[in-house]
Amino acid sequence: MVYLKTEDEIDALRSANLLVSITLAELARVIEPGVTTKQLDTLAEQVIRDHGAVPTFKGFPNPYGPPFPASICTSVNETVVHGIPSENVTLKEGDIISVDCGTLLNGFCGDSCYTFRVGEVSPQVQRLLDVTKASLYKGIEKAIVGGKRLGDIGHAIQTHCERAGFGVVREFVGHGIGHEMHEDPQVPNYGKQGSGMALSNGLCIAIEPMITMGNPSIRMRPDRWTVDTQDGKPAAHFEHTIAIHDGKAEILSTFEEIEKIEEQKYGKASCD
Ligand code: MG
Ligand code: MG
Repeated sequence: MVYLKTEDEIDALRSANLLVSITLAELARVIEPGVTTKQLDTLAEQVIRDHGAVPTFKGFPNPYGPPFPASICTSVNETVVHGIPSENVTLKEGDIISVDCGTLLNGFCGDSCYTFRVGEVSPQVQRLLDVTKASLYKGIEKAIVGGKRLGDIGHAIQTHCERAGFGVVREFVGHGIGHEMHEDPQVPNYGKQGSGMALSNGLCIAIEPMITMGNPSIRMRPDRWTVDTQDGKPAAHFEHTIAIHDGKAEILSTFEEIEKIEEQKYGKASCD
């Protein structure tokens, strides 16, 4: 069942998502070699709770194992999604880390993810980040009312990434968002043009390409959360929550502050 949102509900979703963006920007300031993913989790939880919200990931149920133990997912290098923060995982120069973050604020959810560089990364890895982030916006461009369907979003993401020689993970997809973090419909990062549900005003969805440098096959670790690429090559993950209203997409989360901080740290990023 797809719940279309009212303007008031979209306002509430915007607040929850801006808090995710604030949290990710706070992490951007401290991500550097020597920092543990546990430190990032502690900071994220503090920022979220200081704003009167709850980290939706903490205690998130898992049908195959224990609930998620932390406030953010920290997925380093070959980890695609759902990496568990740990004091035993220390970031080092040249790593990439995707941080996925969710909030519940005034009854509505925020959900956004950004893949950060740790120091200088190889040109090949930088290209993976650039292409994945650009594909997210290619997908969002298709989120308009009047003939466009869910499949058009997935098709745009898939085409952009596969043309660059990268893999599109199939097992995990974007989703509707509202009172619940995961609502209908599913929003795959692949698809056929003109297929799937017609897009309409009030539809609020998280779009989140998970893209691999090599083969898109994945495997799950024994912790029943961490998902790695099977070939051990790196993966990137960027996610925005959007609301379709007035016929087009408004991006409710924002990378603006993160990008400013990255520019201060590393100089201007290249972008596809
Ligand atoms: Mg997410
Ligand atoms: Mg999501």
